[in-house]
Amino acid sequence: MEKAKLFINGEPNSVANTFAVVNPASAEIFAEAPACDESHVNRAIEGAAAAFYAWRKDITQRRNVLNKMAELIRDNSEVIALLLTQEQGKPLKQARSEVMTSVMQIQWAASTEIPQEVLQDNHQGLIKLIRKPYGVVVAIVPWNYPVSIAMGKVATALIAGNTVVLKPSPYTPMATLKIAEVTRGIFPAGVFNTLSGSDSLGAQLTQHALVRKIDFTGSVNTGKKVAAVAASDLKRVTLELGGNDPAIILPDANPKKIAKALFWGAFSNSGQVCVAIKRVYVHESIHESLLQELAALANVTPVGNGLDDNTRLGPINNRAQFERVSSLVSAAKQQGARVVAGGSALNQGYCFQPTILSDLRDDEAVVTQEQFGPVLPVLSYCDLDDAINRANASHFGLGSSVWSDNAEQATVIAEQLEAGTTWVNQHLVLSPIAPFGGSKCSGLGAINGKWGLEGATQMQVINVAGD
Ligand code: NDP
Repeated sequence: MEKAKLFINGEPNSVANTFAVVNPASAEIFAEAPACDESHVNRAIEGAAAAFYAWRKDITQRRNVLNKMAELIRDNSEVIALLLTQEQGKPLKQARSEVMTSVMQIQWAASTEIPQEVLQDNHQGLIKLIRKPYGVVVAIVPWNYPVSIAMGKVATALIAGNTVVLKPSPYTPMATLKIAEVTRGIFPAGVFNTLSGSDSLGAQLTQHALVRKIDFTGSVNTGKKVAAVAASDLKRVTLELGGNDPAIILPDANPKKIAKALFWGAFSNSGQVCVAIKRVYVHESIHESLLQELAALANVTPVGNGLDDNTRLGPINNRAQFERVSSLVSAAKQQGARVVAGGSALNQGYCFQPTILSDLRDDEAVVTQEQFGPVLPVLSYCDLDDAINRANASHFGLGSSVWSDNAEQATVIAEQLEAGTTWVNQHLVLSPIAPFGGSKCSGLGAINGKWGLEGATQMQVINVAGD
């Protein structure tokens, strides 16, 4: 049985309690992680607060440490990726790619300049805008991309001069704790701590008085709780929350040509992607042919244990989510949905067939809720304005896409959709140079590029008298 170690302020820490981590491919326990309590929370946050004043001073030191961190993660990438596949379920190839994405995120952060802006420089005086770190940042992470989401937050906060306490999801703590273990020697004590634990840990961290910023990724409901706690002493927050991304397919799109990109836009990571396609609105003239193309792909995509070379889609990550997805599909079937592909669980861990549903009403739960699993409802439309209104009729506003043979026409429609990102003829393609964040209930603030860095810093105006 794999047992994770706990380090706080760079020192090994004993914990009285542990919790079990389940491999979703078998539904069996494969590891134990430390169950931190309030004493660990206090030690980690107090250590991070004490480390802040020295860490904020020297960006060259921060660059060097982050580059070393990237190197150590790369050197240990195989062991980290194996843990990631076992705890999260994703195919090993994708786990490796997630770990290497993190290496790049950290290297990218290490090369970032903290922007300074001169707003005025004349006889009236000098006014410049500088950006400064907040202090202790708490980073809270979900279970779908535990390594890359965590490392994106950590690298951005650290290069800006903050110190960090990171909390992975209890479903996926092992790869993150392994990163903490292999990199512990390079950080000055207190600069970067990782704590794992059961349900109360997140709230304990966000409530702590020494925390100045919370960088949270997770569901809308939890995001609202985090924002409410932060409001009590005006901690800053970045919230990257859930989505229910629509894809609108125009009548001139070629189903054969777009099916593969649509399929993987919906089913990558077994649909457990905040910004996956979660509803398709296709013109009635090509509805049936698109369904057949998508079903053909679903029927030949191997689902199973991520450690098997053949697997393209792993299991759903945890029992609660598996049951939620199963019940959304059952309810849709009971209400008369047509199952075009899949439709049921496999007899292996939390594996579920890639499922394409049609003949649904817009108000069914599988359409209005974020399924966050391998299920795609495909709805038809005859009037484009109606499709745009239906796509926008959601409290989510994370991503969306428009598909057409005429990219110019599709771009005009893209601008009418309510989302943080709208793609044309693609989906789920993130760029490190573009901000990524949600509109409406899908989030507050953004990550990536200068916008991510702005989220990790506060402004200070320096105003020097003129002649
Ligand atoms: P949750 O909101 O359930 O949990 C996310 C994290 O928050 C976990 O570490 C959880 O720990 C912690 N947490 C739970 N309650 C609190 C609390 N009161 N205070 C502080 N922290 C708390 O989300 P899931 O893990 O189920 O992840 C799936 C969701 O994440 C989906 O909605 C998905 O769309 C969204 N997501 C958004 C992304 C984006 O960039 N917009 C990217 C990836 C996912 P614990 O489980 O111990 O409670």
